[in-house]
Amino acid sequence: MAQEVRGVIARTKGEPVSIETIIVPDPGPGEAVVEVQACGVCHTDLHYREGGINDDFPFLLGHEAAGIVESVGPDVTDISPGDYVILNWRAVCGSCRSCLRGKPQICFNTHNATQKMTLADGTELSPALGIGAFCEKTLVASGQCTKVDSSARPEVAGLLGCGVMAGLGAAMNTGEVGRGDSVAVFGCGGVGDAAIEGSRVAGAGTIIAVDVDDTKLEWARQFGATHTINATDEDPVEKIREYTGGNGADVVIEAIGLPHVYEQAFYARDLAGTVVLVGVPNPEMKLELPFLDVFGRGGALKSSWYGDCLPSRDFPMLIDLYLQGRLNLDGFVTETISLEDVEAAFHKMEEGGVLRSVVVM
Ligand SMILES: [Zn+2]
Ligand SMILES: [Zn+2]
Repeated sequence: MAQEVRGVIARTKGEPVSIETIIVPDPGPGEAVVEVQACGVCHTDLHYREGGINDDFPFLLGHEAAGIVESVGPDVTDISPGDYVILNWRAVCGSCRSCLRGKPQICFNTHNATQKMTLADGTELSPALGIGAFCEKTLVASGQCTKVDSSARPEVAGLLGCGVMAGLGAAMNTGEVGRGDSVAVFGCGGVGDAAIEGSRVAGAGTIIAVDVDDTKLEWARQFGATHTINATDEDPVEKIREYTGGNGADVVIEAIGLPHVYEQAFYARDLAGTVVLVGVPNPEMKLELPFLDVFGRGGALKSSWYGDCLPSRDFPMLIDLYLQGRLNLDGFVTETISLEDVEAAFHKMEEGGVLRSVVVM
């Protein structure tokens, strides 16, 4: 039987979100219904509401979630009711050209639920990132559910579903930060701080945090930054070179998505070093760099989608590190809120005062 639950809906571009009754169908083949326990508020949810992703309103927002599998479709064997899972937006297909070449983490044909959740009047909903988890229950593809150790509390575990994974993976997967490496991170919000945390866990020696906000630089220190630079007061490229013996950092992570910051990241890197772009640019932005410098400085310029994560490989491992006290995930949860508070959480996010507000059901 289809179920009625409450969910946070963005009906029209730029308008405040509302709580509505939504209809969640029974899971069909390849699908699962998950009872959501917690879901973090991400910038992407706000981008959906602002019409910055696409115009497929109404959206069911929320996508950084953990919960319990309630029911599964007839052919689903990899998860069962009662499993504790983190929801992911990279349910790999196993058969696209990338999966077949042994690189499922860049699968080009990831799965979402086939059926649609709807409003009470039958209007089909577009779930954010194919998840939609600011609601009591949600319908997803079974491959979007990654089982992890249930002793990790849901408000923390769910964060691995998007922004924190993007940052950790930008350092650990895309940037391949290794023991003793020097790392610089531009932008110290949730994703940037996760990149700092990922660098620390990966064994980086020097970790330099760059931002224009001293509060964020203080957060960065708590996650393991060894040096901080306020880019309104100082030239970050010069200071990074100073902190790295005059050379620049081995890995520089751009977690903002602005051309001038990317340019700084490009020059703050040591010869043959790596730049990782994990900040998301907008469609109007253009990048201009001296072509000879792109060649002459060598190394790698990489982009990181979702931290190049493979959920089945990375989520359980990161949760285990967290439970062993070796990965700080608690530090990302600034506050826990209820479904009714999502709109207020958007405002706090815009003001920059929180790392993550997390809805707890
Ligand atoms: Zn694939
Ligand atoms: Zn997100």
